[in-house]
Amino acid sequence: MTCFDAQSLLSRRRDGALAAAEATALETHLAGCPDCVRWTSWLDRASRAVSAALAVELSAELAAEVLELAQHLVATRK
Ligand SMILES: [Zn+2]
Repeated sequence: MTCFDAQSLLSRRRDGALAAAEATALETHLAGCPDCVRWTSWLDRASRAVSAALAVELSAELAAEVLELAQHLVATRK
C-alpha cells in the first residue's frame, strides 16, 4: 500500500466506509509509516476544528432565532 492509498483510506475511514480487509491493511501501513500517522493526527485535528466551527455557526444561528423570537414577542405584546 502506498501512502497515497493509505491517506485515501483514512479519509474514507472517517466516513465509516472501510471494509474490514481495508482497515487491516491500513493499520499495517500505519504501523510502519510515521508520515501517515502524522497525517492521521492532522486529519483528526482538522476534523475537530471543522466540527467546532460548525458548532459556533449553529450557535450564531440559534442566537439569531432567539433574537427574532424576542423581537416578535415584543412587537406582538398587547
Ligand atoms: Zn504512509
